Amino acid sequence: MTLETSVERVSLPLEFPFTIARGTSTETANVIVRIEDEDGVVGIGGAAPSTHYGETAATVEAVLPDLLAVVEDAGDPHQLERIERRMREAVADNPAARCAVSIALHDLVCKRLDVPLYRYWGLDPDRTVTSSYTIGIDDTETMAEKTETALERGHDTLKVKLGTDRDVEIVETIRDVAPEARLYVDANEAWTPKEAVRKIERFAAYDLEFVEQPVPAENPEGLRYVSEHSPLPIAADESLLTAADVPRVADRCDVANLKLMKCGGLLEARRIVHAARAHGLQVMCGCMSESNASIAAACHLAPLLDYADLDGSLLLADDPYDGVPMPGGRIDLSAVTRAGTGVREA
Ligand code: MG
Repeated sequence: MTLETSVERVSLPLEFPFTIARGTSTETANVIVRIEDEDGVVGIGGAAPSTHYGETAATVEAVLPDLLAVVEDAGDPHQLERIERRMREAVADNPAARCAVSIALHDLVCKRLDVPLYRYWGLDPDRTVTSSYTIGIDDTETMAEKTETALERGHDTLKVKLGTDRDVEIVETIRDVAPEARLYVDANEAWTPKEAVRKIERFAAYDLEFVEQPVPAENPEGLRYVSEHSPLPIAADESLLTAADVPRVADRCDVANLKLMKCGGLLEARRIVHAARAHGLQVMCGCMSESNASIAAACHLAPLLDYADLDGSLLLADDPYDGVPMPGGRIDLSAVTRAGTGVREA
């Protein structure tokens, strides 16, 4: 079968400047991949490259011709396992670029079979989770205002970015504004192990679900120290990229936070879920600053998750793509009537 492919870069302004421990962004660039079969059926996927993992829109565009050549050579989009393996052999790094192709292929295959992705996987759409809505770092008063706005928009699950000299004050303030919300925090590697334990001991009074990535990924012994001394569960994000990382972190965290853009594709994402479960970990799926061209696909993992942080599209000023309905963050797969990931141009 002849498959036609195309690539388009899109600029996506954020609704608010978004600050985490590593820096601030006001807009993001995603690279959209389209794969069309002989019947005119089009699969859509997106890459949301992260400089933290060495990728930019330019690096994605630089490797996509090699990846799309693998797809065109394969000729059969249903050969997902073989295509993803050959893409890994062709381009070892660049997971966001590979992921865009993986998502577009899954979307195409499901459209050809006329089923939503969760049905292709045999998953139960009623066993879903509510995505958190992320409150980025700002002055404490602004973070409180953003929390109020999130609550007004119907969000009851919030993730708070930390990594400041007033982290305890921030948690106390947000818990005050949102007494009923499910709350978790993410330090994005900002703390030393001892600082992390000191802060987490103070957080224990505020009913947090877990603390994400307290220390740098380069300090696995530090992560072990925090996990052994923390009164709250610990989630690993930057410390865990692919399924092969799961056994390396399993004895020093409680929650594995997978992201499509770290692991390089939907098959690898499901391998992470199964590896994490085999090690007794809870599973979360997070995201980068992403449009629904990729978020829509991640939403179909919801029945396999304990936690979702799939607010990438919600944090954009305007998303050129629609995806899976997420009222108040609740990932509503049973409302997906379109085949594929549910992505379409808005
Ligand atoms: Mg994180």
